Amino acid sequence: MTREDRERCRLCGGTSHRLVGAAPGYQENRTYTICECESCLASFAFPLEADDALYGHIYRNIRSVPGYNRYYRYAYEVLAWQRPLAYLIRQEESYWAVARHLRTRRAAGTAPSVLEIGCGMGYFTHALAEDGFSVTGVDISSQAIAWARDHYGNRYETATLGDLKARRTKYDAIIMNQLVEHLPDINGFIAEALELLSRDGELIITTPNKSAFPDADWETDLPPVHLWWLGEDAMKHLAKQHACELVFMDFSTFYDSCVRPRLQATPVASRKPVLDAQGSVLHGQELPPLGGFRRVLERTGALDILRRTRAEMSGCVRWHGARGPIIAAVLRRLR
Ligand SMILES: [Zn+2]
Repeated sequence: MTREDRERCRLCGGTSHRLVGAAPGYQENRTYTICECESCLASFAFPLEADDALYGHIYRNIRSVPGYNRYYRYAYEVLAWQRPLAYLIRQEESYWAVARHLRTRRAAGTAPSVLEIGCGMGYFTHALAEDGFSVTGVDISSQAIAWARDHYGNRYETATLGDLKARRTKYDAIIMNQLVEHLPDINGFIAEALELLSRDGELIITTPNKSAFPDADWETDLPPVHLWWLGEDAMKHLAKQHACELVFMDFSTFYDSCVRPRLQATPVASRKPVLDAQGSVLHGQELPPLGGFRRVLERTGALDILRRTRAEMSGCVRWHGARGPIIAAVLRRLR
């Protein structure tokens, strides 16, 4: 790593310092330097380069890759629900926040046309479509898009932002759900995405929230799966740089009803790679489908009550209040 590489934050141009010298990578036998920007306080991994082959390994093993296996469960589970969005919004605050925002806009009289960038297996796009939204899902993984089309229909395609721009279709809302942290060049990507927005269009971004872990060094996926760990300051810099106003979503209602345990952060140096050098999963873990009875409990909200009671009895520390381990933010161009 040259001095110059280390010192430039590619988000805001600020100076950075080295936080961790040799952090383990997502794949065995690789190490990364974790840097922290002194201006926007974002952390990033060096070398700041995506590894496309890695996503091939993850999708091939998605059933059992810890962390990603839940997406596989969601992808099948939404097929068993009459109102799949009702299921998804209970699983993670990001789906809850995005869905609530879009529904509020719709209730105000404007049904937004929606694009989900980085839709992966497509279950969230599908759930929004079933809720009545006009929505398209795109991803650069042809493997994931083929799966989505086979299971949910034709509203998906393998496309880059350049492909979409060439078509001149504009969208009222563009969702980037836990996507920006994977990108070497966040600024370039955001600039292109903004060009796809209609006049009052909005970019809805969710990403792991560094501000929620003030003492941790990298409480997010190991690089190069996640290359960035952004906090609220970094999001403000991002909005300013692209001449956008920024609104952080408030998770209070979500955390009141859905239990999110607040776990102790782990120093990145002591974490273990997820894949071996050949791309096989080191400690695979499958998440079976919910099953009929659990689905009923989930549908009626009984599971939420059980989780809450159990959390209260065990004295588990939960997330509370407006902000949590995920940021959800809306960016709108200033005029
Ligand atoms: Zn910065």
